[in-house]
Amino acid sequence: MQEIFLIEDEEKVGKITRAFLEEAGFSVRWFLAGEEGWEALERGEPDLLVLDLRLPGKIQGEEICSRLREKGSNLPIIMLTAYGEEEERVKGLQLGADDYLVKPFSLRELVARIQALLRRAGKTPRVKKLSFTVEGRELVFDLDRQEVFLNGEKVDLTQIEFRVLALLAQNPDRPFSREELLEKIHGPAYDGFDRVIDAHIKNIRKKMGLEAGQFIQTLYGRGYKFSGRKEK
Ligand code: CA
Repeated sequence: MQEIFLIEDEEKVGKITRAFLEEAGFSVRWFLAGEEGWEALERGEPDLLVLDLRLPGKIQGEEICSRLREKGSNLPIIMLTAYGEEEERVKGLQLGADDYLVKPFSLRELVARIQALLRRAGKTPRVKKLSFTVEGRELVFDLDRQEVFLNGEKVDLTQIEFRVLALLAQNPDRPFSREELLEKIHGPAYDGFDRVIDAHIKNIRKKMGLEAGQFIQTLYGRGYKFSGRKEK
């Protein structure tokens, strides 16, 4: 699955953009401020960056663009700009952005442009293996075969358990509520209750042993998130 970073300070825009991109099959990490986004970029680059030009705080979109290019990064970048910011758009492109969209933009158009950029960048349509480490422990997902390996040993998960774990892992550090997980895993029509997810998580942890707790974190009153350092 291809990973996109979205740096966008407007909550409403960020929320619906992330949801739409996830629906389109991308893994998305969303940052509200330039500093946060930059820190994450320094830890590891995604396949593509969707970058709002005007951000609160010290680091603006243009700054992120130029820093990336200065350090020699080829990361495909799509800028988001407000209507009338022609000058900034031009500057953004000069600083190394690959494409831009003017707000309010069409989400379908954004997806089409992302796909075009990824094709041009020669990125393969999807990563078949994902691997993570936490404190020297390694978790590897084979997405084609739907198998998970912990320190080289296969973890015997059911299909549903695999999907829960893979969904969390494809969106590291992103909190998922029980309702959201339930809907994404079982579909919106599923007539179940939130605690079904707790049961899946409990089984996954049991099968992975004590070490699993370090990959899947329980967020009190909020749900779960996956934490681990993604290996490229
Ligand atoms: Ca903004």
